[in-house]
Amino acid sequence: MGDRHTNFFDGSICAFSPTEDDAWSEGGSLATLIDLYSVWAMRHLHNEVIGRWPGKHYALPHPYYRLAEVKPDELCTCGIPFARYGSCCRPNDLKHDVFKLKADFEARNGGRGIRDRAPPAPIVDFVGGRGELPKMREVHEPLREILSKR
Ligand SMILES: [Zn+2]
Repeated sequence: MGDRHTNFFDGSICAFSPTEDDAWSEGGSLATLIDLYSVWAMRHLHNEVIGRWPGKHYALPHPYYRLAEVKPDELCTCGIPFARYGSCCRPNDLKHDVFKLKADFEARNGGRGIRDRAPPAPIVDFVGGRGELPKMREVHEPLREILSKR
């Protein structure tokens, strides 16, 4: 997959957000999960070919993240229907000192920068043969804790 909406340090992808409605969770329908990943894969293809993330996407609630990750002609992440970021929240985000925003973003995320993306540690351990396949709640519970502190 592409570099957007993939493997953030909070473990979220747009098809798999632990805090958003309609996200799949452990015990849910396998067909629903496959549907979500299929849509996610097609959105990556659209982004690669057209150069714009199609439809709604979720963003970490921080202006530095939005400025770095959301293109002006994409739907705004604030939730106002059909609003484009460039004419919705971006002008306000641009009023901030970007260096102060960057420092604040990293301080809120354990010193990690916006490009420090990696799957959750239990997943990395499993893929590397250093651990058992974790239960989804073992992966997502710490993520919920991180998200709840924001
Ligand atoms: Zn907005």
